[in-house]
Amino acid sequence: IRRIFPFSRGNSDGDKSMKELLGGKGANLCEMARCGLNVPPGFTITTEVCQEFYPEKLPEELLAEVRNAVAGVEAEMGLKFGDPASPLLFSVRSGAAVSMPGMMDTVLNLGLNDEVVVGFAAKYGDRFAFDCYRRLLQMFGDVVLGIPHEDFEAKLTALKAARGIQYDVQLDANDLRSLVAQYKEVYEANGKELPQDPWEQMFMGINAVFKSWNIPRAIKYREINKITGLRGTAVNVQTMVYGNMGDTSGTGVCFTRNPANGDRELFGEFLINAQGEDVVAGIRTPMPIKLMADIMPGIYAELAANTTMLEKHMKDMQDVEFTVQEGRLFMLQCRNGKRTGTAALRIALDLEAEGLINKDEAVLMVEPRHLDQLLHPQFEDEKKYVKDVITRGLAASPGAAVGRLVFSAEDAEEWKARGERVILCRHETSPEDVGGMHASEGILTCRGGMTSHAAVVARGWGKPCVCGCEALHIDLKSKVNGKEIVLNEGDWLSLNGTTGEVINGQQALKKAEVTGGDLGKLMAWVDKARRLRVLTNADTPEDALVARTNGAQGIGLCRTEHMFFSTHERIAAVRRMIAEEELDSDHKLEALEDLKNFQRRDFEGIFTAMDGMPVTIRLLDPPLHEFLPQEGSAMDALCAQLASELHTTVERVEARLNGLREVNPMMGLRGCRLGIVHPEITEMQAMAIFEAATAVVKAGGHVHPHIMVPLVATTDEMDHQVAIIHAAAAKVADASGTKVPYKVGTMIEVPRAALQAGLLAQRADFFSFGTNDLTQMTFGISRDDAQAKFLSHYTRQGILQTDPFDTLDVIGVGEMVKIAVERGRATKPNLELGICGEHGGDPSSIAFFNKVGLDYVSCSPLRVPIARLAAAQAAI
Ligand code: PEP
Ligand code: MG
Repeated sequence: IRRIFPFSRGNSDGDKSMKELLGGKGANLCEMARCGLNVPPGFTITTEVCQEFYPEKLPEELLAEVRNAVAGVEAEMGLKFGDPASPLLFSVRSGAAVSMPGMMDTVLNLGLNDEVVVGFAAKYGDRFAFDCYRRLLQMFGDVVLGIPHEDFEAKLTALKAARGIQYDVQLDANDLRSLVAQYKEVYEANGKELPQDPWEQMFMGINAVFKSWNIPRAIKYREINKITGLRGTAVNVQTMVYGNMGDTSGTGVCFTRNPANGDRELFGEFLINAQGEDVVAGIRTPMPIKLMADIMPGIYAELAANTTMLEKHMKDMQDVEFTVQEGRLFMLQCRNGKRTGTAALRIALDLEAEGLINKDEAVLMVEPRHLDQLLHPQFEDEKKYVKDVITRGLAASPGAAVGRLVFSAEDAEEWKARGERVILCRHETSPEDVGGMHASEGILTCRGGMTSHAAVVARGWGKPCVCGCEALHIDLKSKVNGKEIVLNEGDWLSLNGTTGEVINGQQALKKAEVTGGDLGKLMAWVDKARRLRVLTNADTPEDALVARTNGAQGIGLCRTEHMFFSTHERIAAVRRMIAEEELDSDHKLEALEDLKNFQRRDFEGIFTAMDGMPVTIRLLDPPLHEFLPQEGSAMDALCAQLASELHTTVERVEARLNGLREVNPMMGLRGCRLGIVHPEITEMQAMAIFEAATAVVKAGGHVHPHIMVPLVATTDEMDHQVAIIHAAAAKVADASGTKVPYKVGTMIEVPRAALQAGLLAQRADFFSFGTNDLTQMTFGISRDDAQAKFLSHYTRQGILQTDPFDTLDVIGVGEMVKIAVERGRATKPNLELGICGEHGGDPSSIAFFNKVGLDYVSCSPLRVPIARLAAAQAAI
């Protein structure tokens, strides 16, 4: 196998299509080199080597191959690795196929030792050389040898205090020389040593980077971002270039368009006389990139030309890192830039208008999570909180967030687990904090710029973030001090990530706007590209209307039990219905009549809201005990009340209601089994549906009721329920003189139904896959308590890649779906097929449903636009 791909200006065998093998960073370095951009020469070790590496040993052959590749760079640079007379230094960095900012390890300045540093100093001066050497000692110690970072920091802080200086740059050559000696003492105290052999440094550095693929924070990041199926990280070994060689040097990060709003402008930050790490870590707050045009006009022009070329070549907005070493520009990295939802939309539309991409490519460029952000809440009234604004920072990631203050990532996770909404406030964030950042509603930092860790990560997730809020003083134990305001842990705080405002108290939020010109334009392309229809799960006219504005093409699931739960009056009627034994008693008939009236009114509202579109109504599904209170005093009171209402004894009511409790209710008397044991319920619901439909038709509306029987396993069950429904339809048609067209279908929720789909299709106009139950029943995993009991362990340990209730288990449960599709369509080619489980709103599951040929997906009203986009992306 080929383990190494070298790159240098104008030369490389690698290219941007090889991300799986070379990682994102490596593939793009090769691509930039091919395009003739000035990249520091180096080489990429492939992700396949990462696979060879585990369990934690570099393959024998790699060593010679690395030596060979280094020789190539030496020839290119006219320098020599480990040679004091003309030293060549390297950086070693990680880079997987999917970007994981800051999650894995990096070592810089490899190749320095006690001897080389002398030669290096002769070339670049003592101060610079010993500064590099102390950085190597610190990074190598921390990353490769596991010496606590704080041990080094303590020495540095003490030295600065003793010298009465504030900034690292104020340290002189002697200070740095002494720091090198002190750092060596730290090594000694930890029982370690910096290898003096540069090759040993190199191999240990490569080893550490491969190892960092599986450190906890990297695993956590992949877990949160659902990054699975990667081979590992690649390793990029590259000639060091320096942005800290004085005032003609510097380093920066920039985007080819504004990542917050999509404006077409070079956007980013630059630090004179600094190393890349200083910018990315957010330790110093840098200057806006545009000021570079005044300070280094020539370099700025070159950078602008490079980035314009790169954007055209990559056909997407780029995020670029660069370094200027003594007036020479080096391109260090480029990748498709992370952006907010607003920017993603703007950029996709603009690139299409500029002719760089076509409409389908524009649709592919906006990710489902970007739309999620566009649909995010904002503050109800921004004028209202003006007097509560404490301070203002950088508007790093837009949207409104409200929560209670916490000061550590662990607290954020803990509070969230108890059901609190939190705002995480830190000096700056680090990759260690990702768990807590994810658990927070919003993130606030007092240091770092728009490209700091907090900003980049929050933007990726669409979480509101305000950073670089320098007016804040955090006393990390428990306090934030604003100007006059002191805030403590647990206090309410609001963040406006769109304006950068930090606001005292719990400000009111409003739902996000879903319509709008730009979004409308993209969604028109989306709708043209997709084949799947998108319906919604809604049980009220209000939800139905929201879904309709979001583009839903009908209701795919109306869970009628939700209507029963919605008021006390209704629950009371349900309880009377189930407590009364005698089928034709007045009490039973009255209770059924009450429920029918409630349902009829609801259905009229929903039919009206969805005028002209299909409305799929599911018959009562849950086990009846769900309508009862827990055993105890509430239950006793209920029995007493029902006994008096139904003129019977408490004991009889008790016996009847307790008889409803089951050991295994999810596999008990529910779904169509209820309608078979209690046909009066099915009849009542069917009558309500047809009466409502008739009334709406008579008022000039258009209705398409699709009645759906849940949890069917056998054809006889289906026949039983279908007969009741047809009878009710006939009864209403006779009484009203109006015939309403309707369909009757079944849900496919148990494996037996999927297997029997051929026969069920003879009795059904449509199938709707209830993938929540189908997952539960196929997997044998309880949808109610598996998460807490073991599913989270499974996903953490990688026994399952994802939660199967979240993303469809394509190879198992998906197989059931495929079987049912094939057998159903074999019987009835025009059988309508849809899915209404939670997976109907999950983009990767939608891709599968598109592939197996379903006609529609149905999801919650707020996810409808995302499902439309996912359906389009699946079809393109
Ligand atoms: C399902 O099982 O997927 C479904 C849609 O029904 P419910 O979630 O109501 O059981
Ligand atoms: Mg179900």
